[in-house]
Amino acid sequence: MNADVIVIGGGSAGLQAALTLGRMRLDVVVVDAGKPSNAPAHAIGGLLGAHDVAPLGLLATGRAQLAELPSVRLIHGEATSVEPHRSVTLADGTSLTARAVVLATGADYAVPDVPGLAELWGTSVIHCPFCHGWESRDSRIGLLAASDEHAAHLVPMLSRLTADLEIFDAVAGLRSADSALRAVVLPDGTEVPRDVLFVAAPPAPRDAAFAHLGLERAEPDRVAVDAFGRTSTAGVYAAGDLVTPAPAVAQALATGQRAAVGVTRDLGA
Ligand SMILES: Cc1cc2nc3c(=O)[nH]c(=O)nc-3n(C[C@H](O)[C@H](O)[C@H](O)COP(=O)(O)OP(=O)(O)OC[C@H]3O[C@@H](n4cnc5c(N)ncnc54)[C@H](O)[C@@H]3O)c2cc1C
Repeated sequence: MNADVIVIGGGSAGLQAALTLGRMRLDVVVVDAGKPSNAPAHAIGGLLGAHDVAPLGLLATGRAQLAELPSVRLIHGEATSVEPHRSVTLADGTSLTARAVVLATGADYAVPDVPGLAELWGTSVIHCPFCHGWESRDSRIGLLAASDEHAAHLVPMLSRLTADLEIFDAVAGLRSADSALRAVVLPDGTEVPRDVLFVAAPPAPRDAAFAHLGLERAEPDRVAVDAFGRTSTAGVYAAGDLVTPAPAVAQALATGQRAAVGVTRDLGA
């Protein structure tokens, strides 16, 4: 199957890139495995114009918008290999070729290994004060500090949100009821009532399909791009959490847009 552009990943970054490319009448195939990192969250915090919108709701609206563009196709699937000459293989064996590839596969957020934490991830256990801090204001907030640096970074921000902040350096488990955090359990068994727990959850690029390309990296761990999303390999662009030092939906949309503008400029007429 041939296209002008293959977009790998249909989260905020990939769908925004496809929207911009499709509106320029480029033939676009979006391949998406359908697992955006923010899916567990009730709502997207801090995105202008999207008050109380669920992450999957925003993407469903985006896909409906793309369905109106005749040159954009969406495929549910997983890209397993991206080659420098811009051919892409999917897990089901489908082979795609294009003039440009936009990588928008997002990141895996490494959450601490604490019993009871995984089921509260994205709701009562969160990592980003800009995303969910406002919704946690004036509640009993806990911080599981991963390091002195992590605490020094977050304590001033969390102190803006609540006067009731407890900092933990070790936690044995979390007690929840009705899918909400009730208490942090300390190693000695003491329970500290908390409504929300902030944790470190460093994002790592989801790059299994293209790690072999050896794309240049930037600090912290992300794909290096120029102002128009161009990576160090010609014809390969990247957007979203793959390239963003401070991941957020607004950044994903912005970098998806920029990569699409870069592709359009580079492909010409
Ligand atoms: C729990 C949580 C809550 C968050 N809350 C907020 C918030 O409230 N506000 C905010 O602004 N930001 C929030 N963020 C950050 C925000 O979710 C990300 O910055 C944003 O989703 C990044 O968009 P993206 O398109 O790069 O990646 P994603 O949204 O993760 O989308 C990537 C897509 O690519 C697909 N994919 C991956 N690999 C492949 C492959 N090989 N082949 C095909 N498809 C593939 C995935 O399945 C997924 O559908 C949160 C993050 C987390 C983890």
